[in-house]
Amino acid sequence: MAEPTFHRGPGRIFRRLGPRAQVVLCQLPLTLFVAAIAVATPLAWPSLMQSPLYLSGVVLSGILFLGCFLVPWERLPHRPYLLIPVLDFVAIGLLRNGAAPLLPGLAVLVVFPVIWLSASGMLARSSLVLSFLGPFFIMLPSALAHAPSVTASDLTTVVLFPLMMLAVSLAIRFASVNLRLQQRELAEKDRELRELLAASREREKLLETVLDATDVGIAAVDRSGHFLVSNSRQRSFRQATGADEAIPGQGHQLIFGQDRHTLLPPDRRPISRAMAGESFADYLVWAGVGTEQRALSTAARPLVSEDGRLTGAVVVYTDVTGWVESLAANQDLISNVSHEFKSPLNSIIGNVDLVLEEPEPLPPQVTRRLLVVQRNAERLLSLVADLAASASTALNVHPKRTDLASLVETTIGSAQAWAERSQVEISADVPSPLWAYADPLRIGQVLDNLVSNAIKYSPDGGRVSISAEADRQWVRLSVQDTGMGMSREDKARVFNRFFRADAAQQAAIPGAGLGLSITQMIVERHGGTISCESGEGTGSTFTVTLPAEGPPPAF
Ligand code: ADP
Repeated sequence: MAEPTFHRGPGRIFRRLGPRAQVVLCQLPLTLFVAAIAVATPLAWPSLMQSPLYLSGVVLSGILFLGCFLVPWERLPHRPYLLIPVLDFVAIGLLRNGAAPLLPGLAVLVVFPVIWLSASGMLARSSLVLSFLGPFFIMLPSALAHAPSVTASDLTTVVLFPLMMLAVSLAIRFASVNLRLQQRELAEKDRELRELLAASREREKLLETVLDATDVGIAAVDRSGHFLVSNSRQRSFRQATGADEAIPGQGHQLIFGQDRHTLLPPDRRPISRAMAGESFADYLVWAGVGTEQRALSTAARPLVSEDGRLTGAVVVYTDVTGWVESLAANQDLISNVSHEFKSPLNSIIGNVDLVLEEPEPLPPQVTRRLLVVQRNAERLLSLVADLAASASTALNVHPKRTDLASLVETTIGSAQAWAERSQVEISADVPSPLWAYADPLRIGQVLDNLVSNAIKYSPDGGRVSISAEADRQWVRLSVQDTGMGMSREDKARVFNRFFRADAAQQAAIPGAGLGLSITQMIVERHGGTISCESGEGTGSTFTVTLPAEGPPPAF
């Protein structure tokens, strides 16, 4: 049913009522007024009790109110409830004209049916016409009563009052039309919002499905560490670490360092590092305990808003347990095998030495053969030592304040004879003393390896120069040669275990591809770095960076 239109609050309550209650409510204000006047009549205006018009107005008003209750509005086909305000005009006309000289102001009661009709939202034009004609016919009898001597004031009343009611009706119509337009706009916006919400839910579902389909754990966290997005893989890693609390940077979590046993301090956990704005890759941690323990390679990138503020981070977890375990098994095998090789080799070398040192001179041919055996056995022993060192996860370094200039001098001294034989000229431009925080034995080994490589991979002779520079934090040592150099692809793999460049193999230069991987391990255990610059046919430069004094901050 059409009813006076209210926007929200009372309007909504009104709309929920049944048609009967709505009609009763619309009629109630007028009925209350009429009832109040009727009750007051015997005392205030007793003469009105004699006015049949007035009394019939009161009765009609009562009948109309009863009608509101009794008529089954909901069952009627055209819902003729608007007949009530029209009949209200009749009742008010009877009341007003019956009480004319005493209570002319009763005409004002027409405002109730006018409001009802105008706000009903139906019969737009009819309601305007009724709002004018109703009051007009109510006022007309009093003007006609003065006929034929109708005054200007009579005419004004007859026309002005209906015009006022017409204005009221128009104002209500405008207001309700405006209200309806706003409601329509709101409903339209509401529909759009619902559609957007549904679309965004769809997208969210799609994203979740894609994320859950990957084999990698993914989590996005805000600055306070709350999860914005995470996939099922990441949640299973979290379960393994017992990290059920909302803030990942806090609380007890089973996240261990590379030794699998030392619990990581909260600020070294991947999410905490990411929340602090760090960007990293290949950060290996162990999650969980016992047979469930997993090795996770983690990476993080900060989330930055459009205005450049850090808003959180994305952390990615890759399960590398299988890879780490097979690497460990591989290293175990190498170190066991190399250990097993050492004793027989030492025995071969010792016995050959004994035979060579015999007082009885051996036939020259036998001596030559034994010297070949001795040389190859020693080469094998050094290879086995390299193998054992490269497989060792516990390569120990004992750094202390060390003068690198003297280490460079020692290295050049021991390589000089070989360099001369290979027609390689060695020079050094190193300030003395050059202090660094280093293990002299291990860094001596590094220098020996780099200088011997520089000579070895300069088969046509050339120049090897050692240079150094230092600032307050770091010391940089460079070993440069003018030898065969390497291609870009070879350069990228030069620190890999067992890597040998094709050119080096074709030139039949001996080697096992272990020296540089051990060198890198030693330098990194010092908290330093090693890098390589090289070009095919133009030579190579290896640069080692070591802490100048004391351990570096991240060490
Ligand atoms: P090895 O020398 O025993 O083969 P390394 O680990 O020391 O093992 O070196 C690995 C590989 O890197 C070498 O086989 C060689 O191909 C290349 N390489 C190392 N140093 C140089 C250099 N100074 N110039 C050219 N190639 C080099």
